[in-house]
Amino acid sequence: MIDKNQLKQDMVAWRHHLHEHPELARQESDTAKFVAARLAEMPNLEVVTGIGGHGIVATLKGTGEGPTIGIRADMDCIAMTEETGLPYASKTEKKMHACGHDGHTTMLLGAAALLASDPSFNGTVRFIFQPGEEPGWGAKDMVEDGLFERFPCDEVYGLHNSPVLPFGRIETKVGGMNAAEDNFTIKINGRGGHASRPQNTVDPLACFAEIYLALQTIVSRNATPTNAVVVSCTEVECDGVHNAIPSHVVVRGDARTYTLEDSALIEARMREICEHVCAMNGATCEVTYTHEFLPVINNKACVGKVVDAARKCFGAENVDDDCPASTGSEDFSYFANCVPGCFFNLGTARPDAENFPLHNPHYDFNDDALEVGASFWDFFARELLK
Ligand SMILES: [Zn+2]
Ligand SMILES: [Zn+2]
Repeated sequence: MIDKNQLKQDMVAWRHHLHEHPELARQESDTAKFVAARLAEMPNLEVVTGIGGHGIVATLKGTGEGPTIGIRADMDCIAMTEETGLPYASKTEKKMHACGHDGHTTMLLGAAALLASDPSFNGTVRFIFQPGEEPGWGAKDMVEDGLFERFPCDEVYGLHNSPVLPFGRIETKVGGMNAAEDNFTIKINGRGGHASRPQNTVDPLACFAEIYLALQTIVSRNATPTNAVVVSCTEVECDGVHNAIPSHVVVRGDARTYTLEDSALIEARMREICEHVCAMNGATCEVTYTHEFLPVINNKACVGKVVDAARKCFGAENVDDDCPASTGSEDFSYFANCVPGCFFNLGTARPDAENFPLHNPHYDFNDDALEVGASFWDFFARELLK
């Protein structure tokens, strides 16, 4: 039998170690080594490293036959300088675990320890430690490296800590849980000239003014009104001469949606609007549109399983099965796009202290949640693989 008190102490030590040594996306070599070393100390696990870069999969077969579930944690930090002043604060400027991925990784290590110590369940659990969540690279890197061909899963699950949600509360929803993030750059090519003689120019700023307003008709006239769709131009760059009409205008921006269809709709309409407005004005344009994060689309049956287990663990009053969708993006979407899955938030607020939000230089993952998260994963896996 595993000593749960010892595991609790170990988890705090692991989390503090990871917190003190944060690594950015695609640079998580020491973090991956640390995770692999902890997994190697546990019985019954088959550990494979180097998947899609620094990704790790640990496979645990139960004593009986049954389905295979994947549980994922992310390992990377963000490029921020820590201001917590904690004894285990990051020693490196512009590297900080300000999103709590140190906590996610530790909770999954704790879950692996609990499940590996007693694999009396019917099926297989795969513990997926992914790199590079923050820029949206890591899950994609692992999928492109054959994650689900090499380590098939029937379902996949992931969680994010939420320091603004009461401690021990679970929230999730069916369908779009986290937004897709698309980025775009529109380069408008006109013909520059003297500011006093517009008749000799093709003014790309005039094109931009029309495009800027027309882009909002994608939201108001093309997208389904009940779908959340955001199109934002965030940057405009001209040639920079006060008394000259520029030759070029470069516009950058960001779009958010909760369905792949809306993401495709924005791209298609944006290309049409830009092309036609420019043609009408005698200009040309180049539109670059990139899909940075897929939306997290939660599978109905998988949400049901999380909600059932969470109600048993935390009480029905602490489970919200239809929470508001998050405007933040999560690259868990690349896993949930391959196999049915559910992503949910775990409330980690400290009841008697100030709770700084994620991505704040004063944020620190709440250690009290380590045991809660690890125990929930343990309970959840055993529920699914009864
Ligand atoms: Zn983050
Ligand atoms: Zn995060």
